[in-house]
Amino acid sequence: MVAEAETAPGPRRLLKRLRALMAARENAQERLDQLTCIIAEDTGSDVCSIYLARRGGALELCATHGLKREAVHTTRLMPGEGLVGLVARTARPVTVADAPSHPAFSYRPETGEEPFKSFVGAPILRGGRLVGVLTSQTREARAVGEDEIETLQTVAMILAEIVASGDVIAAEELAGLDVRPTRAERFQGGAFSPGLAIGVAVVHEPHAGSARLIADDPEAEEARLDAAIAEMRRSIDAMLDSGRIPFGGPTRDVLEAYRMFAHDRGWLERLREAARQGLTAEAAVERVRNEHRARLMQARDPNFRERLHDLEDLANRLLRHLTDGGSPGMRDLPEHAILIARNVGPAELLDYDRTRLKGVALEEGSASSHAAIVAKALGIPLVGGLEGALDRVEDGDPVILDGEFGVLHIRPPEEVSDTYTERLKALTERRRAYFQLRAMPPVTADGTRVELHLNAGLLIEMTRLEETGAEGVGLFRTEFPFMVSDTLPSLAQQAALYTAVLDAAGGKPVVFRTLDLGGDKVAPFVPSAREPNPALGWRALRLGLDRPGLLRYQLRALIQAAAGRDLSVLFPMIAAPWELAAAQEMLQRELARAARLGAEPPSSVRTGMMLETPALAFALRHALPHADFVAVGANDLMQYFFAADRQNPRLSGRYDNLNPAALALLKRIADECAAAGKPVSVCGEIAGQPLEAAVLTALGYRRLSMAAGSVGPVKKAIAGADTARLGAWLASHMDSGEPSLRLLLKQAGPQAGLPHESVDNFWRL
Ligand code: PEP
Ligand code: MG
Repeated sequence: MVAEAETAPGPRRLLKRLRALMAARENAQERLDQLTCIIAEDTGSDVCSIYLARRGGALELCATHGLKREAVHTTRLMPGEGLVGLVARTARPVTVADAPSHPAFSYRPETGEEPFKSFVGAPILRGGRLVGVLTSQTREARAVGEDEIETLQTVAMILAEIVASGDVIAAEELAGLDVRPTRAERFQGGAFSPGLAIGVAVVHEPHAGSARLIADDPEAEEARLDAAIAEMRRSIDAMLDSGRIPFGGPTRDVLEAYRMFAHDRGWLERLREAARQGLTAEAAVERVRNEHRARLMQARDPNFRERLHDLEDLANRLLRHLTDGGSPGMRDLPEHAILIARNVGPAELLDYDRTRLKGVALEEGSASSHAAIVAKALGIPLVGGLEGALDRVEDGDPVILDGEFGVLHIRPPEEVSDTYTERLKALTERRRAYFQLRAMPPVTADGTRVELHLNAGLLIEMTRLEETGAEGVGLFRTEFPFMVSDTLPSLAQQAALYTAVLDAAGGKPVVFRTLDLGGDKVAPFVPSAREPNPALGWRALRLGLDRPGLLRYQLRALIQAAAGRDLSVLFPMIAAPWELAAAQEMLQRELARAARLGAEPPSSVRTGMMLETPALAFALRHALPHADFVAVGANDLMQYFFAADRQNPRLSGRYDNLNPAALALLKRIADECAAAGKPVSVCGEIAGQPLEAAVLTALGYRRLSMAAGSVGPVKKAIAGADTARLGAWLASHMDSGEPSLRLLLKQAGPQAGLPHESVDNFWRL
């Protein structure tokens, strides 16, 4: 069987000959010329030609066997022109039994192609883009078989890699050929982590050109492919059946779609056929995916696009099963890498080299999604809601990410690049100026002292205390290490982390929030049920109280870490005062246990409650006497107040935090805490927005906790705000019935106690 395959003509022999050619030390043109000879010979055709896409979109005849040599690098066709153009425009193979009688036929005398009748053209696709067209023609008019089309498509796939990989063939040698599209694209999304980045695109799950394209042993490759498909199916089934969908990964609906496609006979058959033809398993997946991507780029129907997207994701999964299965983030990054993804989980984001990752652009994502929180922790811009961006970008494309206005520029024209280079300079200047402010205490224009603290969740962020001059960590989100670990962090590991956090704080206060898992924050090892409304589900302290093992261990680790130091523990998602009491009781039991064992106790212990539910806001009278402090988790509070899922990009921006009803609620909380003499802070994302921070100060909040990048801008903003005047202005507008006071505030400027400066400029992060 094998011996026959090696000698008999057919796709496998053809691929073997191509491999030998690729290994030979020829120059690019010679290699292309020989390629056309081999293909013509092996497919028994009279003509084989390679047309490659040039800048501007023309298809240039770059090599031929059978047409006149003078036509090489002379004949050019526009997409849509002639049969070659038809292949390019549709990105699909075209076969014609009698080409000259076809309406699309375009006669080019310089090629001398009059005598040729039958025509087969296959698109040369890479990453879903058209790189060129491969054609084969015969003198005789004839019907072309499926096999021949398949073979040509397989060869086209290899050709695409040859053309694109600079080491095999230098792009300049091909008459200045640029296989990348040059058209600039601009996508508008939402700015979810501030900053600006100019760099190169790194597609999260790139259509990596596999190093090996041609199989040494096609049967073995087919078996590898089958094994990978089986493994992938098992992993999808396991995810669905366990009811635990990994955080930041695909949703249940998408997984269901994957499951369906993973059993789709048509898709599987195409993959197997590509492997049977002699491609490696990876190259077979790549080939089939390229065809899908090409169709995706042309498809307008959103449902169809969605389907193709799912197939694309599935192909990525399959490739991961075929390769080492490692995280996409483990790859080497270029300098100034800007990650482009459909969505990315916090763990995946952290896998990337932090010194090189300069920004994140997501097709999905929202302001309070955890990818955005990690991006803020890393101090890099994140823009989400960039629908369709992945279809238009290639690994290595120059890109600009604007985390201020939520824009992604792909292959920006020079004027745009120049403008952004200027803006980046200005931003760097502004950051330098904020850095200068770090030792200055935050005081409002009318002399009110405010404390600014950091929100953090990773040890790496602790260095930012020093850098920003923040007075402490107002919210340490302890769940991050759990979410990014495959196994439950041990007691010793947890204690070591909390000790390191306290050490890094160098005596500044740190508020540790206990595990806030559940809802959208899923740790692989935490029991979780399928829930119809995860955000309203069994999460945070609810889970901690019902399954006390996790919480008890965490409290034990915190007590150990805080031996001889102050310990502040914050309990998340309290909806009823008894939940605080139950959590405190658990803490007391752990303290008593530590005492029994003779361990050194913390020098002081304070417990706080996160105010994240409207229910607690209206039960403060009962809860406040039992809490040492309160932290308003405005992200969740607003989610429940407006009944608007914070993870749902369709709703982000629909309700404004400066809505008078929301402000009235926030004022009520501040007033009640003040009356009870209990310190209160705000630690949702609004505390880090300069204008909102000034408003919160005017509502009576004296402690704000925010991402590190916000400290400087917020300090500057409140320094320019007259709290008393702003408070009075707000009081007089609280009943206005406006959806938001934002615009009115900006218009009022000094009348509302806000600075004279151009307000928009002033309130920028
Ligand atoms: C909040 O809900 O406002 C908050 C600070 O907690 P998280 O964003 O972690 O839910
Ligand atoms: Mg919360």
